[in-house]
This record gives sequence, structure tokens and C-alpha cells, in this order.
Amino acid sequence: MTLKDLGEFGFIRKISQGCLIRPQQVVRAIGDDAAAFEPLPGELTLVTTDLLVERVHFLRQATTGFDLGYKCLAVNLSDIAAMGGTAREAFISIAIPDSCELDYLEEIYRGIKHLAAKYQVNILGGDTTGSKADLVINFAVIGSVPAAEILRRDTARPGDLIFSTGQLGDSRAGLHLILNQVALDAPEWQLLIQVHSHPEPQLAEGRFLAQQPGVHAAIDVSDGLSSDLAHIVSESGVGARLDAGKIPVSESLKRFCECFKFDPAEFALAGGEDYTLLVTVAAEQADDVARQFSARFQRPLYLLGEITTTGGMELVRPDGRTTPITPSGWNHFGAADG
Ligand SMILES: [Mg+2]
Repeated sequence: MTLKDLGEFGFIRKISQGCLIRPQQVVRAIGDDAAAFEPLPGELTLVTTDLLVERVHFLRQATTGFDLGYKCLAVNLSDIAAMGGTAREAFISIAIPDSCELDYLEEIYRGIKHLAAKYQVNILGGDTTGSKADLVINFAVIGSVPAAEILRRDTARPGDLIFSTGQLGDSRAGLHLILNQVALDAPEWQLLIQVHSHPEPQLAEGRFLAQQPGVHAAIDVSDGLSSDLAHIVSESGVGARLDAGKIPVSESLKRFCECFKFDPAEFALAGGEDYTLLVTVAAEQADDVARQFSARFQRPLYLLGEITTTGGMELVRPDGRTTPITPSGWNHFGAADG
């Protein structure tokens, strides 16, 4: 069966199964003119959207439908995590070219629903339409956060220590392997490809950190460590110093960099789509926060540098030399990774 046989309403009926997984507070889901749900008293509403265009953000032939759907939702959940919030409702609009098979579309929704079920996110609506050439997917995700616990980019303070909730650079390495079709089934590269294809949004980590005293600012690493830290630095009117030797990189990334002659710290600085959270924490509370984080999540909160008073960012090399860091991650208006 093709999408034409099924028709728009047949397609919507088919994909709307399993979209409402948390019916509390939801008055109307898919099937009315608008969705209706009750806000949580005392919480701020968070809204994030993402527009993903084939050939700009993804290559249909290089990704499965499942991975595409999973990742589209994951990147939006990551933005809610970066605000310290809980993700609640999702709206998905999709423009479908004739060349896109029904099976591929169903796989997209299977990927979305897999992650939505894991994080208890309802899919409450969206829109479907035709497209002349490319597949275009838009997500809107709504979350909430207690007003006093919101995490922002503009509240870092000089003297804060900078932490990451996970290792950096793996996703960029995975993308390099996928785009260059390098030994994709080799067991030593599976972790890198997995991190790139199925990033884990740090929702529990973001919520936990938002409740800790001394956690000042946060952002998720979507464009790359250097680019995303630059947002905290410019929004907060501060500087930052990173210790190259402390930037957390996996054993897989070290092996990858040896094999392909990259510098792991550079790769982690520029590599996008890690979807870890960067947080800045008051120095006095940093030990406590890091200890509680590792007790709760059974892995370290990685210290990688500190917020300084001066504008700009610098990298302290293992030999003590200091070099300026320029934001060098993903540029949406520049060239794609090669
Ligand atoms: Mg973000």
C-alpha cells in the first residue's frame, strides 16, 4: 500500500495509535481542531521547535526511518532537558514527497513513539502535507519546569566550574564513519555510531541538576562544545577556560582519532550532536553536586574548565600553552560535515 492509497486521513488514523500515553491533564488529543491540556500549577511552560530538512539536516539514504524519527524527537527533548524541565507534549508536522515510501514513514513514527514512550511524552497533533522534492519534518515539544528551577544560558558567574554530563565528540566521529561508509559493522566503532544515531536526551540529568543549589547555567551540546559554550559565555557576559586534558573523551573516540589522525580534544571541541548538558556550578557547591550526580546516575559529572571574568574562551594545553577557542561547531548556514 502507498501513501496515496491510504490518503491523508487514513495515514493520520494509522499513526495516531499509541500517541496518547499519559492521558492525565489531556482534555483533547489528536482528532479535534486543536489539542487541549491543563498546565501544571506553578510551573513555567517550555516550548521548543526544530525544523529538519532533507539534504540540509539529514540524508534519507544514510539513515533508517526509525533512527530519523528517534533523533528528531531526541534533539527536542534535549532542549527541554537543557532548561531543567520535564517534556510533556509533542506536535509533529511532516511534508512528504512522493518518493518517500509508506514503510519509511511508518518507521519514522515507530522511532518517535519508541522515545516518546520512554520519556512519557504524548504526541498530541501536527500536520501532514505533500512536498515537491524533500522530506521536511517539524517538531514542537512542550515541557514545564518549576519557575524557581529553570536553567538558563545567561546566568553563569565568574568562578563557576564547567561540567558536562557525558563524554564529547563521539557523535561527530559516528557521523564521520557513516558519511564515509567506513567499516560500519566493525565492533570497535559501534559505540560511536550508536551515540550518533540514538542520542539519549539528558532529561533526568537536567531535572536533577536544576534542583541542586549552586547550579547556575546550562545548555545542551547540539552544535559542539566550543559553539555551545560560546552561547553561555556571550549570554552571561563572561569568559571561559577549558583544560584540554580534562575534556571527557571515550576510549572509542581515542582509538578513532588514532586511526584517522585527529586530535581528540579538537574533535570533542568542534563535534556537534553530543546532546550532553554543559552546566556551570558555583565552585563552593561543585564537589557536592558532582558527588550527588555520580551517586544518582552511576557515572561521573565531568569537570572540564571554569568560567572567567574576561570575554572570550581559551584552551589550556597539556604543556601549559594557552590558545584561544573559536566557535567551530556545526554552522547551519555553512558546509555539512565531510
Ligand atoms: Mg539547545
